[in-house]
Amino acid sequence: MARRSAIDTATRDDGGVALAWQFLCLVEIANFSALRRNLGRSGAASLIFDLDRRIDSILPDASTVIVSRTAVEVTLERESFADLQVAITALLTVAETPFDLDGGAHDVLIAIGAAAALHGTAEGVRLIEEAEGALEDARGSNQPVLRDLSVCTPTLDRQTLTRELPQAIVNGEMFLEYQPKVHVREQKITSAEALVRWQHPKRGLILPGDFITVAEQALQISALTLWTLDEVIRDQKALAADGHELTIFINISGQLLSDKHFVEAACAKIHDCGAKIGFEITETAVIRDPECAIANLQIFADKGIVIAIDDYGAGLSSLAYLKQLPARELKIDKMFVLQLTSSNRDPLIVRSTIDLAHALDMEVTAEGVETQAAMALLSVMGCDMVQGYLISRPISIDAFRSFLHEYRDRPVEDTRQSMFKRPATFWKSA
Ligand code: C2E
Ligand code: CA
Ligand code: CA
Repeated sequence: MARRSAIDTATRDDGGVALAWQFLCLVEIANFSALRRNLGRSGAASLIFDLDRRIDSILPDASTVIVSRTAVEVTLERESFADLQVAITALLTVAETPFDLDGGAHDVLIAIGAAAALHGTAEGVRLIEEAEGALEDARGSNQPVLRDLSVCTPTLDRQTLTRELPQAIVNGEMFLEYQPKVHVREQKITSAEALVRWQHPKRGLILPGDFITVAEQALQISALTLWTLDEVIRDQKALAADGHELTIFINISGQLLSDKHFVEAACAKIHDCGAKIGFEITETAVIRDPECAIANLQIFADKGIVIAIDDYGAGLSSLAYLKQLPARELKIDKMFVLQLTSSNRDPLIVRSTIDLAHALDMEVTAEGVETQAAMALLSVMGCDMVQGYLISRPISIDAFRSFLHEYRDRPVEDTRQSMFKRPATFWKSA
């Protein structure tokens, strides 16, 4: 059995490897009231059994439970998050053909709300509640909604977090994890992204999806980001002592792009030690106050800070601003990359984004690379850098140092072998 990261998989009692992601999905008949008007009460009531049968035939390994007259609950496990998205795409076809009832064909509209969590990290009740919340969102948006519980825990009480956050920074409850980026042509790890986490004494690990907006609202984001910068500078020195010269990227909230004190303080810290730092910013952050943001980004760029545009394609995109930003790198949002090999549209979007970025003299990073198939396709498309669970999850600085060590000391024949031919276990072994 191939060796896998402990975070990725759970080992079963029989010694085998269990699938890493748990998935709970609610498939609802969205136009039930209208159908009941046509079919009558008992006719409409039988629709749910047909829906259940269709789901069974589309996803034979899933278990399904009819939870109401209008909804079926589907649970299944998959190896990667991308596989879950494939399952949702399959579920979307469930009502493609009309339902035959009382001698007539009836169009059924469905809404899908789902929640996914890494194996063993979420209580069953939590998965149900999140899937219910996702279903509510799905009804409003006419699109399936999938909540990834590995990156957000929205049930946390924001008011309490707001109160606790300032002290948490002082008490040393925050820590960083690093996720490497691999340069495709050079086959080298040339940079990494620092991602902040909060080890709460009572609540356990809290991920940034839950406290970054809290930090912004509590006007703590500047303090948190300056703390992050100090940590990154310190860790970068340790990496340099190991012989690894990497640019380390940190995420910068939009709010900070118009914060004069932050701009001065960050530039001073970086200038004083000559650290190789990159800032990841989203386009949405720039669009809020473009004049001020662009001026400050130019100040950062003039100080040698590499500017990367994060989450490209996920929010508001404006070619007019894209051209004006002093950015050297563009990161394609993981939502396009996760479905790269299973959707018809996403490869076209990714391909044209790579060409656009190159035309603007920017390098392109694809984030959310989870499979070797995606990595191979991105390479063919000319993507410059890749980042994602296939290579490594975000890991502690100590694990990152070992990862770099292992990568550098890999056997000579490995260096000649294309990285795309290496088994996934090679990348996940750190
Ligand atoms: P982001 O900048 O888009 O960071 C990437 C997120 O995707 C990370 O979640 C990472 O763990 C996750 N990810 C990486 N590779 C994969 C993959 O292959 N598949 C999937 N499904 N996910 C992957 P994380 O660490 O929970 O961070 C969430 C967001 O929080 C970040 O999104 C970033 O916007 C924000 N954030 C993190 N650290 C900071 C910080 O220091 N300051 C600010 N302002 N925001 C931060
Ligand atoms: Ca980022
Ligand atoms: Ca991103």
